[in-house]
Amino acid sequence: MKYIKITLKPGKEESFKRFHPWVFSGAIDRFERQPEEGDVVEIIDWKGNFVGTGHYQIGSIAVRILSFMKENIDLEFYKKRLNVAYRMRRSIGLINGDYNNTYRLVHGEGDNLSGLIIDIYDKTAVVQAHSPGMHYARHTLAQALKEVMGDALQSIYYKSETTLPYKAELDPENEYLFGENAGNIATEYGLKFHVDWLRGQKTGFFVDQRENRSLLEKYSKDRSVLNMFCYTGGFSFYAMRGGAKLVHSVDSSAKAIDLTCENVELNFPGDNRHQAFAEDAFKYLDTMGDQYDLIILDPPAFAKHKKVLNNALQGYRKLNAKAFEKIKPGGILFTFSCSQVVSKENFRLAVFSAAAQSGRSVRILHQLTQPADHPVNIYHPEGEYLKGLVLYVE
Ligand code: SAH
Repeated sequence: MKYIKITLKPGKEESFKRFHPWVFSGAIDRFERQPEEGDVVEIIDWKGNFVGTGHYQIGSIAVRILSFMKENIDLEFYKKRLNVAYRMRRSIGLINGDYNNTYRLVHGEGDNLSGLIIDIYDKTAVVQAHSPGMHYARHTLAQALKEVMGDALQSIYYKSETTLPYKAELDPENEYLFGENAGNIATEYGLKFHVDWLRGQKTGFFVDQRENRSLLEKYSKDRSVLNMFCYTGGFSFYAMRGGAKLVHSVDSSAKAIDLTCENVELNFPGDNRHQAFAEDAFKYLDTMGDQYDLIILDPPAFAKHKKVLNNALQGYRKLNAKAFEKIKPGGILFTFSCSQVVSKENFRLAVFSAAAQSGRSVRILHQLTQPADHPVNIYHPEGEYLKGLVLYVE
């Protein structure tokens, strides 16, 4: 295949010798001819040497490189990439019959497929495109997925209405690309939950907290747990299995509270240790008592852009300060940030300020991150986004 060539400015080839997958618009010297958004293009350096092949789009990231080898970006290419991703998840024991059938199959750059996310819920794949190129490739991707996963897959749902750059005016429709609803109860480490990929946030469930929920389970015995920003209740049902005395789940969305209650009922029918409240986090933390000795704070991304970084850090500080103020002596705090633009250091600094404000003695027990099915491409450190601290509050 002959792809439109894009030539880099002198010196701009350096980052690609280290396999960084993004070509910024400022690095481009000239276009052979103007590509359309979503086209596959070929990048060459100013001397005419081949650099890589990727998807073109308008914006500060102009090309997302998919391959540093000269190869066609076609069905065979996607099959090869998906195969590697699938094999990796299988080889680390993540895909495990009825015990665990929930995992991320493709994590963008982490799986050398910039612009693409695929989560698997039992027999359903939820595909999310973050670039016009992946949007146009969706049917090829669906075909590749079917061939790679075979009978393990019964349906593919495409959900990109909110993830594509709106300026591209692609007007994507959320739709099944293959099959139809193949049942929406999935299992994570032996716990069941309903996934609502049609209406839920992201692909329907926050797959990225699995290992952290599992760690929480170990610390839950006989504790009174507050799961703040519970969404579908992930941390709550792990705490219950871990033997918590009581579990209170809080989220400002009434829909999320309904989902949490459904999921708790699915795993622990009639168990009255659990209660859920649809309330704003700050309001709840202000008015709650001091009964909790295990608190989880897993808020939505406070900063989506660098510009609002300072406000976000203030937000993390205030939120954590409230938890430090109220948590019982000997309590454990699981606190997270999923904002990509907030660094590990910045997040730790915000939590440090909050601790200092409370004047309590605080120890870091664990430093948490995203799980193995959300791998970070070593050449693309930007892929690291989830940060967590487990703290012992004296
Ligand atoms: N911990 C969850 C994921 C949290 S996502 C899990 O393991 O699956 C963030 C959640 O925060 C969303 O459900 C959103 O509805 C909720 N939220 C956003 N702003 C809030 C606020 N001010 N108070 C309470 N909840 C809020």
